[in-house]
Amino acid sequence: MTVADSPARPAESADGPRPILDGTRALSQQIGVYVFVMVPLIALVAAIPLAVGWGLIGWADVAIALVFYVVSGLGITVGYHRYFTHGSFKAKRPLRIALALAGSLAMQGPVITWVADHRRHHAFSDKEGDPHSPWLYGTGPVALAKGFWHSHTGWLFDRDQTNRERFTPDLLADADIRRVDSLFGLWSVLTLVVPAGLGGLFTWSWQGALTALFWAGLVRVALLHHVTWSINSICHMWGARPFAARDRSANVWPLAIASFGESWHNLHHADPTCARHGVKRGQVDISARVIRAFEKLGWASAVRWPTERRLQRITRAS
Ligand SMILES: [Zn+2]
Ligand SMILES: [Zn+2]
Repeated sequence: MTVADSPARPAESADGPRPILDGTRALSQQIGVYVFVMVPLIALVAAIPLAVGWGLIGWADVAIALVFYVVSGLGITVGYHRYFTHGSFKAKRPLRIALALAGSLAMQGPVITWVADHRRHHAFSDKEGDPHSPWLYGTGPVALAKGFWHSHTGWLFDRDQTNRERFTPDLLADADIRRVDSLFGLWSVLTLVVPAGLGGLFTWSWQGALTALFWAGLVRVALLHHVTWSINSICHMWGARPFAARDRSANVWPLAIASFGESWHNLHHADPTCARHGVKRGQVDISARVIRAFEKLGWASAVRWPTERRLQRITRAS
């Protein structure tokens, strides 16, 4: 049964909560995950010799890569994460669909699957049942290395699927979102082909199309992959913990700009529905600025901005 034809049902049934897992991935899906993870990664490894050794990078490649990094990155942070997973604001229908599409360009999985995994992460953060905690193997050096790999990339290859009917009944009930979700393969092709087309047009050459496919398609996807995955790995291992979260989430400032504010991860776990993660002075949070702009334009409403009282309540006593 595909998501598109699975009926939306409440998360709770007469027999209690639904199980957290829902079968295993089909072989074709499993191969897809390997392709989506490994191909951009191989491009990333090849990127440095190509750029430095042969100079095969132009301004058009950099410009297109930047635009696609920002659009797909904000699609993940503002869309998949703060809006769809945590409901930190309400969005009008065109914005809702645009956010689901933008996030789909990041090659991080269909929107409903991503949200189901992430809601499960919050439900069991750093305990048994968390899909990507670095702390499941112990605290010795070998266990931590294993935990780092698992939380950063390894968990993606786990064939157990998060039960979408338990974690995302709201999204399964939304016909627009089910449609965007079911067309994930198409968005993954477009996120490579459109940059290539633009590169070809800007430089009016086949080589321009190829270098844009490489830099603005594959390398850009790989960079965003690893920034997003660092929130699951690094931001649950090292960093500052000024807020009272019930897990090992931490604030990691060097990742703030590249992650559009997501690396203020300790605040996020202490107050998951808050629309702003970088709540302190000087904590840059580009996603929060974008949400503010949507609010001013009248596209977003009921934004859950942090309040002084709430921040005081979640600040760890020192
Ligand atoms: Zn987390
Ligand atoms: Zn979250």
